[in-house]
Formats: sequence, C-alpha cells, structure tokens
Amino acid sequence: MINVPFLDVQRTYLELSNKIDEAIRRVLRSGRYILGPEVEAFEHEFASYCGVSYCVGVGNGLEALHLVLLSYGIGVGDEVIVPANTYIATWLAVSYSGAVPVPVEPDERTYNIDPGRIEAAITHRTRAIVPVHLYGQPADMDPINAIAARYGLKVIEDAAQAHGARYRGQLVGGLGDAAGFSFYPTKNLGGLGDGGAVVTNDKEVADRVRLLRNYGSQIKYRHDVKGFNSRLDELQAAVLRVKLLYLDDWNDRRRKIAERYVKGLDGVKEVVLPWVPEWSNPVWHLFVIRHPQRDVFREHLSSFGIETMIHYPIPPHKQKAYSDLFSSEEDFSISSRLSKEILSLPIGPQLEDCSVDVVIDRIKSF
Ligand SMILES: *Cc1c(COP(=O)(O)O)cnc(C)c1O
Repeated sequence: MINVPFLDVQRTYLELSNKIDEAIRRVLRSGRYILGPEVEAFEHEFASYCGVSYCVGVGNGLEALHLVLLSYGIGVGDEVIVPANTYIATWLAVSYSGAVPVPVEPDERTYNIDPGRIEAAITHRTRAIVPVHLYGQPADMDPINAIAARYGLKVIEDAAQAHGARYRGQLVGGLGDAAGFSFYPTKNLGGLGDGGAVVTNDKEVADRVRLLRNYGSQIKYRHDVKGFNSRLDELQAAVLRVKLLYLDDWNDRRRKIAERYVKGLDGVKEVVLPWVPEWSNPVWHLFVIRHPQRDVFREHLSSFGIETMIHYPIPPHKQKAYSDLFSSEEDFSISSRLSKEILSLPIGPQLEDCSVDVVIDRIKSF
C-alpha cells in the first residue's frame, strides 16, 4: 500500500478529463490524425509559450535532439559535449547522429554540467554542447554560450525536464541555438503517450527538422533528404494544448512543494537539499536530495509507504550500451558518486501539503 505516490499522473488526467475528452473527441471526429490542425496550433502555442519563433512537433524528446543535431550537419567524425550526469537519451541522440558524446562532469551543487570543465573537453572535432536543465533547474547558460561563441560551437538545450524554467529571467528553450523538449507523460508538460518538440529562433533549423520528421518530404511523395518518421500526432497535440494552459499553475504548485520540503528539512542531519543559484528559477521536475546511506534511507521511507525514485542509478558511462566508449573502471567520479547518494522525493502538481508533511516527518524519524 503506497500512501504517498511518487507522481500521480492519473489524477492530473481525471481533474481535466472533461476538457481532455472533448479535445480527443474533436480529433477522433475530424478524420485528421497526422500533421493536421492540432499539431499546427500546438506548435504556435508552444513557440509562443517559450518566447521563440518556431516550434516543430516530433515523435519524442530523443528524436527532438537527434533531429536538431542532424539539422546542424553534425555526424560521423564529430564530437558533442554532453553532461556526464544525465538521462541516457541526451547521449543516445548524439550517438544516433553518428557523432561521439564527450561527457563533462557536473557542478556538485546544481547537478548540471560544470561550465568550468567544458573547455578541457573541447577538441578540433567538437561541434556542439548539449546542456541539460536537469531536474527542472536551468544549466548555467551564460558561460556555456560564451565558450560556444569562442569555439564556434552550437548550443542545443536538452529541456526535456524544464518546461517553463527560467535562467536570469529568460525561459529555457530560447537560451541556445535550439532546444529539444519531451512530452513523455511524467514530464512537467506531458501527453498521454510519447511526444516531443524542437523550439528555435533559427528558421533554417526549424525547416530542416520539419523535413526530417516527415520522410524528408514537404510536398507529398517528393523526398529531398532521407528523412524519418517522427511526428507529434494530432491526439497528443490536442491533449497538450489543453494541458499547456495549466503548465504555469502546475509549476507554481511544484515550487510551493519544494519550498515546503526545504523549510521542513532544513538542518536535518546528513540530508543534502537542492541548491538554487540566484539566477535560477527552476520548475522542480524532480526534488532530489542526497543522503550518505541512500539505500537504507530509501528503504525506511518505503516501509512507511513513501514512494521515491533514483534519477539515475547508473550514469550513462557505466551502462553496457556505452561499454564501447568507456571501460567500466573509467571514472567520472562526481557523477558516479552522485548516483549513489541521490534520491528523488515525491513531487507533482497533485501532491498535497499533508502528504509533503508525512514525507518530511518520516525523513526526520530516520
Ligand atoms: C525524458 C528525457 C529525454 C527523452 O525524452 P523522451 O520523450 O522520453 O524521448 C531526454 N533528455 C532528458 C534529460 C529527459 O529527461
């Protein structure tokens, strides 16, 4: 019996079921299921939300990043700088392009890529940097953009966890050359299935992604490049249009929960709380703490019905999938250590204060 679920996506749906069902019915009856008016409308609405000129809906977040890399002509023989500490999709997007992911260790306080370590990883093959706004907290973009400008690199934001987050007052998605978003159901803006988007102010990239997502075709049965099938579908777009209207409220609710956790857990021995730099306005996709005895600590919470998760238990460089690039001893020591100490507490727009307090009390009783 779980008393405090990690995230209750079903409840999000139920609270909006009238509006979502209506949107779905509208699509079902329209007879347009792929690349129709809903995707087009969502693209306009999401571009406007992010404060950028273009949005292209794609199949998922991984494909968003992949297609951006291809649009910049990045591929075999190239290197792309990625955080050592991220979800594996960031790396896979680079690998699928044919380029090699070059990991850079995080800042231990923000868990995001450490700008101070990027230059040492740059070679004559480096083409781009992909900062991730991990856990919903923006990466430190000014120094990243400055390095990119100095070396002529593209900056591609992995904003899959950070819809609506702000860096020095500016929304993520418009902080680099282009950005990839995911609408996986558990993200801050999530559909009822897979979905993703590329946002950018760069018209050429937007046009290129538009081509690549649809078999390299702009005019039916004319194929200019060897494209993919990676389209946001009408049903997901219609659902996302409903949910986008609530994103800011949901993010505000996440901020309130985070504040409550921070207040309630301040000074608790051995618990390391998230650190928010003054230039950051995060959207708390995850609320990640650290504990030196993470596994027993997690077991303790679990015995009281509190569901927690680990994001992520094995860093990409230690995954079997990347054993071709990194031998198991090869050590990104900060990322490796963090993966053993981090724990994500329940957070989501539907989590109630009383549940947050239960979590706080059980943490204190450890
Ligand atoms: C979820 C996620 C992705 C991939 O998104 P999908 O839609 O699942 O393909 C990429 N990067 C990060 C950091 C993510 O959290």
